Amino acid sequence: MSEQVRVRFPPSPTGYLHIGGARTAIFNWLFARKHGGTLILRIEDTDAERSTEESIRGIIEGLEWLGIDWDEGPYFQTEFAADHIAAAEKLLAEGKAYKCFCSKEELEARRQAALAAKKSQVGYDGKCRDLSPEEAARLEAEGRPYVVRFKTPRDGEVGYEDRVLGKISRPAAEIEDFVIVRSNGKPLYLLCNVVDDIRDRITHIIRGQDHMTNTLRQVLLYQALGARVPVFAHMPLTLDLKKAKISKRSHGEIVAVQFYRDHGFIPWALVNFLVLLGWNPGDDREIFSKEELIQAFSLERINRSNSIFNYRKGDAKFFTDPKAISINAHYLRTMPVEEIAALVKKELEREGLWDPAYDGEKKDWFLRTVDMLRERFHTTRDFVTAGRAFFSDDFEIDEKALKKNVLKHPGLKEWLPMLADRLEAEAVITPERAEAVAKGLAEELGIKPGIPLNAARALITGQIKGPSMFELFAHFDRATVLERLRRIGEIFGETA
Ligand code: GLU
Repeated sequence: MSEQVRVRFPPSPTGYLHIGGARTAIFNWLFARKHGGTLILRIEDTDAERSTEESIRGIIEGLEWLGIDWDEGPYFQTEFAADHIAAAEKLLAEGKAYKCFCSKEELEARRQAALAAKKSQVGYDGKCRDLSPEEAARLEAEGRPYVVRFKTPRDGEVGYEDRVLGKISRPAAEIEDFVIVRSNGKPLYLLCNVVDDIRDRITHIIRGQDHMTNTLRQVLLYQALGARVPVFAHMPLTLDLKKAKISKRSHGEIVAVQFYRDHGFIPWALVNFLVLLGWNPGDDREIFSKEELIQAFSLERINRSNSIFNYRKGDAKFFTDPKAISINAHYLRTMPVEEIAALVKKELEREGLWDPAYDGEKKDWFLRTVDMLRERFHTTRDFVTAGRAFFSDDFEIDEKALKKNVLKHPGLKEWLPMLADRLEAEAVITPERAEAVAKGLAEELGIKPGIPLNAARALITGQIKGPSMFELFAHFDRATVLERLRRIGEIFGETA
């Protein structure tokens, strides 16, 4: 590609950063990075009533969290209002647009008549298109409100070569003379978007197929404004299992990038997952480093068909698409442990469980804990939920573990304090000594070693499963192990 690639991500700041929007940003970013190009962040805040500061902040924070960096901007569409008006005036002056004085009521009446007459076209009938300049000036002088309409060519084809979908075209005559400036003098978004893309010298427009309803009209605007039409690449939509668009209203928070941050996702894991929702490398690879992804990415491999976000509302097992979770778990297990520890630190801080010693004398213990736990965890959030007992004395014992492994065996009231006493007699509790002590005690008592060990797991870690219990006796500090084993009496007392 000889020309400098310039792409943009132009969100409308009317809500949180949607994962679909994030995917658009990611595709543009990958394309820019691959070609040494420029990514522009443009906030399309023209809809003043729906745009909010909070949303702008959320979008920017979301992109930063994902690691999607832009090279220019953020620009704000409202700051360029004068450009939008100038473009509309230019089109008017060159006879490529005209003032239309038809009222809403007139338009509706004529539309109904066209429908009744079964005309193939029921869009704007072009009544004001050929008003003489004198007639138009007279109506304007009368104070009649007007909109500005674009003069669509009456013949020929309008089209473009979509990088994903191939040739898209339509007879120009099928496109009605569309409005570009409202009767209140405000240019329509459709025009603003083109004017901004021309000013920002955008070479490629990578956006969702939901914008395709605008594209042919926008192609006409580029041509009329004497600008080169950029390359378009329209990405598939993301649908749920019932083929409905994923939205906050029907799917809740899981469509917001923020949700993944709050649920312990690793930013790059979410990027990796979102890229696969709408693009494929042409082989069966699913995990990509940043460099690999930039290298592999191309517009031609964007999928044509819709992507499926595999999520069932109310699913008790998976809180979002299981593939997103498994990709996150992959990164959790394979990234350098120090990087995961830094993310776990944030989780602990958020919960008020961070101990500064984890950065000092307990650093080694902290890193070993993270390394040990990550084998079974799926998100960094799991460290403060399932893994809470490693960082706090204030944790709950999993209900199933309590019922099945503790309360079923009243003998534990004697057995666990005995185990505590014997461990206490050891100078140092190593995994090997813990094993010998626990098994020796079980044998003497004539019980299966699993009974005290499973109960010890419940009392020490709060969980029903986890790393080897012998390792854990050695991993937790001695006082904690003894104290938690001796809590058994209390537990029977509380639940009796
Ligand atoms: N502001 C539009 C949106 O947020 C983007 C339009 C475009 O990409 O051309 O959907």
